[in-house]
Amino acid sequence: MMLEIDGWQVGIKFSAAHFIPEHGKCSRIHGHDYGIRLRIYGEVRSGILLDFVEVKRIARKIADELDHHILVPTENEDMRIEEEGNALHIFYRDREYLFPREDVVFVDVTIPSAEELARYIGHRLLSRLNGAFGENVKGIEICVDEGPGQGACEYFEVGD
Ligand SMILES: [Zn+2]
Repeated sequence: MMLEIDGWQVGIKFSAAHFIPEHGKCSRIHGHDYGIRLRIYGEVRSGILLDFVEVKRIARKIADELDHHILVPTENEDMRIEEEGNALHIFYRDREYLFPREDVVFVDVTIPSAEELARYIGHRLLSRLNGAFGENVKGIEICVDEGPGQGACEYFEVGD
């Protein structure tokens, strides 16, 4: 059985800015409306696969933490990040960015693409769900859409 949560429909979404180095026009800073979609796979027990409520609550909290921020990757070897008081300087090749620290959320990815964000959000979601799944849940797929209709999905096995 598969249980589906569509963040576009149930308000698990966020708006954020990013830049994707070395990818043409995407290398310039720009923004997206992102939606998070979840598919949970497993066996139905007593008519239920999983209680939606807790998963939705945690996913929404993760989306809220990213909302209206600039997503800055921390795993990019070509990017240098320097904090100075409330300011954040980011150097990438011949480019230099200066942001207020509070406007930035660090994401531990190499580039903040939909693919990498799906992996990042999936890891965060799973670590926070920590035990909320029954052993009947076998896997979870996390999709991050850059606007409705286009996104990247990562599958995580749950349990043993
Ligand atoms: Zn983009």
